[in-house]
Amino acid sequence: MYENWEQLKSDCFKCEKCDLCKTRTNLVFGVGNENAEVLFVGEGPGENEDLQGEPFVGRGGKLLDKFLDAVDLDRKKNIYIANMVKCRPPKNRDPLPEEQDQCIQWLREQTKLLNPKIIVCLGRISAQRLISKDFKVTKQHGQFIEKGGILFMGTFHPAALLRNPNQKPDALEDFLALKEKIKEICDRTY
Ligand code: URA
Repeated sequence: MYENWEQLKSDCFKCEKCDLCKTRTNLVFGVGNENAEVLFVGEGPGENEDLQGEPFVGRGGKLLDKFLDAVDLDRKKNIYIANMVKCRPPKNRDPLPEEQDQCIQWLREQTKLLNPKIIVCLGRISAQRLISKDFKVTKQHGQFIEKGGILFMGTFHPAALLRNPNQKPDALEDFLALKEKIKEICDRTY
């Protein structure tokens, strides 16, 4: 159990719990307001994220920023963004279950320090791990599900939206529903 972000970061940046540490340029810890009420969780760093050490900075990240902007959220100001795994899987393959098992402890510690009211899962990998094993993004996106005092919502991964732009209106609806939910249960975000 960590008392503060500095201790947690200091240990996490040294992590060698799985082989992904061997090929990382930078560990991608997370970005945002360390007092945020809303936590977004992606899958894992891609090439740009590995090079820059920040989540969602490639083309998908630019799209995510647009959706955030549409509902007055800002990655640096009023939310926090992290990933299921902190180091880039080679060739952007899905993180292996054992890599996720090792890495999820860091996400748990981040969640404990943040104590968010809402967690938004970006894509299948985080939704299936954090919400339910058989979560189907195309069917269950935008639904709020309470678990352990936190409201979870799964929506499309930005990279999936780049591949299937026809899903963007559905994604926007999810973000609009998120905005309403934030207004209902959060008091520091807007
Ligand atoms: N995809 C993710 O899931 N996370 C990132 O940080 C970048 C791309």
